[in-house]
Amino acid sequence: MNTPPRALILDLGNVLVFHDNALLFRRLGARTGLPPAEVEQRLAGEGWTAANRGLVGADGLRHDVSRALGVELSPEEFFELWNCHFTLHEEVLPRVEGLVGRVKLALLSNTNVVHAAYLRPRLPVLERFDHVLLSCEVGQVKPEPAIFHEALRRLGCAPREAAFFDDLPEFVSAASALGLRGHLFTTAAAFDEQLRALGL
Ligand SMILES: [Mg+2]
Repeated sequence: MNTPPRALILDLGNVLVFHDNALLFRRLGARTGLPPAEVEQRLAGEGWTAANRGLVGADGLRHDVSRALGVELSPEEFFELWNCHFTLHEEVLPRVEGLVGRVKLALLSNTNVVHAAYLRPRLPVLERFDHVLLSCEVGQVKPEPAIFHEALRRLGCAPREAAFFDDLPEFVSAASALGLRGHLFTTAAAFDEQLRALGL
C-alpha cells in the first residue's frame, strides 16, 4: 500500500467554496443594464491573470471591471457585487477540519485580492492550515510549476509526499507532471473516497 501523503494541497474555488458565475453575470447585468451574456463577454476580454498575479490591486480591478462594463462602481458596491456569487461548500468543510493535525495542509488558489479579502474571514479553517498560498500574494499562478514548487518548499515536502486536489483537470495534470499525487476534486463523497485511498 502507498504511504499516506505528508501534506495535502487543496484548491479553493469549487473545492472549499462554490462560485456561481452565472449569478455574478446576472447581478452585474442588473446593475449595468447589460444582458448577462454581454457582461460575460466583456469581462472575458479583460484577462484576469494580472489580478491573479497580484499585479492589479483592489482599486485597479474595480476600475478595470467598471471600464469594461461602462459604469463607475464604488469600492463598497464593487466588493459586494464581485463576491456575490460565493457559497461555502458546507459538506466538505467539516471533512477538511477533520484533517487538521493529521496531515500538513496548504491552500493553493489562483485568486485576486478582492476575493481573498472576502473569503478569508468566512473560512476560519484556513487559520488552521499550515500554509495559505494565494496567487495574488505569491505572484505566480497555477498551472505554472513555480507555484507548486513554492508550495512544496513551504511544506518541506518532496513532490511524492504531497497530494494535490483541484477541480480543474489542467491543474491536476500540471501537479502530476511535477511528481505530486494529483487528484481531481469532484464531490465531498468522492473526496472521502480519495482520502481513504490515500490512507487518510
Ligand atoms: Mg477551483
